[in-house]
Amino acid sequence: MKRQMYNYAPEVFPSLGFVLWLAAFLIGRRYRLENALVWVPYVIIQTIFATISGVIIKNLYQQVQTDMLTGLHSRRYFYMKLSKMKSRAPVSLIFMDIDDFKSINDTYGHTAGDEILRQFACILQNNIRRNDIIARWGGEEFAIILPRTDAEEAFIIANRIRKLVEEKEFTINETVCRITISVGIAWVRKGNDVNADGFFKIADEALYKAKEKKNFIVVYEGGKC
Ligand code: GH3
Ligand code: MG
Ligand code: MG
Repeated sequence: MKRQMYNYAPEVFPSLGFVLWLAAFLIGRRYRLENALVWVPYVIIQTIFATISGVIIKNLYQQVQTDMLTGLHSRRYFYMKLSKMKSRAPVSLIFMDIDDFKSINDTYGHTAGDEILRQFACILQNNIRRNDIIARWGGEEFAIILPRTDAEEAFIIANRIRKLVEEKEFTINETVCRITISVGIAWVRKGNDVNADGFFKIADEALYKAKEKKNFIVVYEGGKC
C-alpha cells in the first residue's frame, strides 16, 4: 500500500488537485455560491494534499540518503558531502573493507553476513565523533570523513576501530564469528582544498596497499586540487 502510494503520488496528487479545483469552480457557478463557501474547503483540502506530498518527498529524500541494511549514510550522500567540503583545516578520509567477507558468507550464510554488517556499523557509529560523516560505501566497504583531522589523529581513530573489530565476538544465533578489517586513509593538509575524486582515489590506493597484509592500516597524503 505504502509502496503504491509512493509510486503514484506524483501523478495522483496534482490530478486530484485539478479535479478539486474544477469541482469547486463548477459548484460555485451552478449554485451561485458565495466565493468563500466554495473556495475555503478547496484550499483546506489542497493544503492537506500539499502537506502529504511534502512528507512523501521528505521520506524519499531520507531513503536516498540512507543505507537500508545498516542505517548509515548512503554512498550518494557521502559523495555529495565530500564534494561540497571546503576546509581551511586538515581533512582525512578513511576507507575500510572487511577482510575475507566472502568466506564469512560461505561459512555462516548470507543472513549472518548481513547481521555482521549491521553490528559492524554499530561499532563505527559508537566510535566516531559528532562531526564525522560515516557511510556504507558498498558491499562490505565503509567510509568515514573526518573534518579537522590530520593523518596522526585519523590513524589513532582508525586503529581504535580496527582493534575493537578484531576483538569483538560477533554473535549470530549463538554462533560466534570474528572478523578483521583493512583500512586506507587519505588526508589533506591545512589550507588545501579537497577534491572528492582525487581523495577517494588516494584512499582507495591506500586500502589496496593495506589489503596486501590485511588487518592493517595504510596512510597516504593526497586528494588536493
Ligand atoms: P578481501 O579480504 O580481499 O576484501 O576479500 P573479500 O572476500 O572480503 O572480498 P570480495 O570482494 O571477494 O567479496 C566481498 C563479499 O562481500 C562478497 C559478497 O557476497 C559480500 N557482500 C557484499 N555485500 C553484501 C551484503 O550486503 N550482505 C552480505 N551478507 N554480503 C555481502
Ligand atoms: Mg570489498
Ligand atoms: Mg573485503
